[in-house]
Amino acid sequence: MNKRDYYEVLGVSKNATDAEIKSAFRKLAKKYHPDVSKEANASEKFKECQEAYAVLSDPNKRKQYDQFGHSAFSGNGAGGTGGFDFSEFDFSDIFSDIFGGGFGFNTGRSSKRTHRGNDRVVRIELDFMEAVKGTVASLDLDVYELCDECDGKGGHDEKTCPDCHGSGYVARSQSTIFGSFMTQTTCPTCHGKGVSYSRTCSKCKGQGRIAKHKTLEVKVPAGVDTGNQLKMAGKGEAGVNGGPNGDLYIEFIVNKHPLFVRDGNDIYLRVPISLTEAILGSKIEVPTIYGNVILTIPEGTQNNDKQRLKGKGIADVNTSRKGDMYVIMNVLMPTKLSKDQKRLFKELDDTNLKTHEDFKKFQRYV
Ligand SMILES: [Zn+2]
Ligand SMILES: [Zn+2]
Repeated sequence: MNKRDYYEVLGVSKNATDAEIKSAFRKLAKKYHPDVSKEANASEKFKECQEAYAVLSDPNKRKQYDQFGHSAFSGNGAGGTGGFDFSEFDFSDIFSDIFGGGFGFNTGRSSKRTHRGNDRVVRIELDFMEAVKGTVASLDLDVYELCDECDGKGGHDEKTCPDCHGSGYVARSQSTIFGSFMTQTTCPTCHGKGVSYSRTCSKCKGQGRIAKHKTLEVKVPAGVDTGNQLKMAGKGEAGVNGGPNGDLYIEFIVNKHPLFVRDGNDIYLRVPISLTEAILGSKIEVPTIYGNVILTIPEGTQNNDKQRLKGKGIADVNTSRKGDMYVIMNVLMPTKLSKDQKRLFKELDDTNLKTHEDFKKFQRYV
């Protein structure tokens, strides 16, 4: 038996890099693939390349081969050829690389696929104060759960699928630029399960899952804001073929408050005050999220003056550290005056109110 040297088969040197080996194999695979090749002995040549590539692309096997030659693999040789048995080698990556997706050998691996259930995102709308203080919200959900009648199988009296003979895959002809190939797709009869059932489960109509209406109590922590998500592990949809459940994500939408404006954990409040309150100073009652407080407005307060109420903001959802509250003075000019008020303003005007520095600065340019 004159088995060719693997390096010779691929036409590369003994110290070829992995990339050179891969590239050489790609070229030869295109040339000798039995579905496209018109060469004589294409299938033998193709097998020879596959074997060489399976060994030389694996650093450990390549080392063994370099040391012992073909005898390194004689123990597990396929059909006594003294070569490396590559039947378990997964070529699907490089073949899909060469021939486009969907190509692969059926390596006989179990094709009974389990799938993790889908994750779900559900949005909950909260009032401003509910988000600030935390609450318990109840959530109405339609979720898929495993059918208890058939244990999620979808039927009774299991038998091997007649269309794929249990592999879960069927061969399909697919056209590519290299010609037409047999490709594998998931069996449409059994959806890749490899088995079918004599009787379809009547409870789930063969779906294996049942939609169930559920009411879930959700403990909303204090301080959540719009866009924050709460993960409830395993509360998503049921897995397929015994796969784990997905997760449920609850996303919060916090409604606006008529007065408070939230910025992170800080709160802004615009307080309307009258002209005389601003000029003469005053004490007014203002709301905070912790109840009303008395605020002193100093004499000579200007429009948009800000006062900080330390620690009167929102407690952080993670650290409980409290933000601040800012009260912004909104000095409102009167728009309708009574006769008496007009008279008083005229008297006031006669006293010359233009004593502010800015009036003087302005006058210099007029
Ligand atoms: Zn099938
Ligand atoms: Zn069922």
